[in-house]
Amino acid sequence: MTYVIPEVGLSYDLEYYERYKAGIRVTFSPVERKFNVKADSKIPPSEVERFMNLKSPLFAKWLNKVEEKISVTLPSDSRSASFKNRLLNRCEKLLENYEGPRAEQYKVSYSKSYWGRCSADKVISISAYCAYLNDDQLFYVLVHEHAHLIHMHHKPAFWNLVELYCPDYKELRNELKSYSLK
Ligand SMILES: [Zn+2]
Repeated sequence: MTYVIPEVGLSYDLEYYERYKAGIRVTFSPVERKFNVKADSKIPPSEVERFMNLKSPLFAKWLNKVEEKISVTLPSDSRSASFKNRLLNRCEKLLENYEGPRAEQYKVSYSKSYWGRCSADKVISISAYCAYLNDDQLFYVLVHEHAHLIHMHHKPAFWNLVELYCPDYKELRNELKSYSLK
């Protein structure tokens, strides 16, 4: 259900969960400019609203940041063997506990139009721009591309598989949209 606090120009979707340990958890989707609130089923909506009001100065900051996309340019050493090794080793480390299917080959690419790519012959290309991503974001890129080894599309079956390995994929996908690759 969607709630609005007109005083601070803020709207949020509220979802209830049984025995939700975090109590109240707020996430923000920069692309949709929407707040998402997960709350324990024992907390009444009025209490959530009070909480959202209290935190509204913080949320205003989140909203303002949306305007500023983070511009990133190719790292200057990105064509070097050491850069490629570093990036691919980092991917390998992040995949240590990943038990799904693996690619035949991993490559570094220089495209501005994707973070990762999976070809029909099971080659996964990781964009050099991924060097800017944090581990969670890069892990999402990896899970996304590995899911394409099974589903070569973005239909619900694909996203279900992504979610299996990366439950926070929606938030991480939105975080990636806040970058502009130059
Ligand atoms: Zn994809």
